[in-house]
Amino acid sequence: MSANRGNLFILSAPSGAGKSSLITALLKRHADMKVSVSHTTRQPRPGEENAVHYHFVTVDEFKALIDKNDFFEWAQVFENYYGTSKQAIETQLAHGIDVFLDIDWQGARQVRELAPDVQTIFIVPPSKAELESRLNNRGQDSAEVIASRMAKAQAETSHYDEYDYMIINDDFDIALSELETIVLSHRLKQSNQALKYQPLLTDLLKED
Ligand code: 5GP
Repeated sequence: MSANRGNLFILSAPSGAGKSSLITALLKRHADMKVSVSHTTRQPRPGEENAVHYHFVTVDEFKALIDKNDFFEWAQVFENYYGTSKQAIETQLAHGIDVFLDIDWQGARQVRELAPDVQTIFIVPPSKAELESRLNNRGQDSAEVIASRMAKAQAETSHYDEYDYMIINDDFDIALSELETIVLSHRLKQSNQALKYQPLLTDLLKED
């Protein structure tokens, strides 16, 4: 592994737990952290931009990318396909950038197999009532979609015990500082620091 290679993190959560807002806020504080932009076959929501929030593609385009082996991981989530392209993460990691994958439990399972040192974080809302209210307040999806997401939130949450860390997103600022603590603690692990600061250690350990 290169000395300055970035770390890979996965954030999963039931829809409405506030995962995207937490990642956005964390990235604002750290220029050396990025979120991977996934491909999806779902329609853009109002305000979503192609290549910023997702690469929006057709089912045929998505399947062509699967055939070309372009995906690091991919899964069908709700009624649509979602995937992380290898290109979306490799360049950043190689440049020492920490990369966050905002993906579901199916994708997390695939990534654990491919990159066992990935750090995985699960975010949950403080209550079911709060989750329902957040999904309603978002105002971007139909009642039918919200009801379906509530049902699927339970399915996503049932995988919480596959993750290394768990954050309860009740107070946003506390949840953000907990997320930052996890990420910075991982960076500061002796094994990671030793790789990054090898020249310093060599110098300090040199007998004069
Ligand atoms: P949304 O449609 O609300 O943006 O995302 C729905 C779900 O798909 C979320 O749980 C999100 O984490 C997941 N998701 C987004 N991108 C990917 C991806 O590239 N791979 C996988 N496996 N899941 C993804």
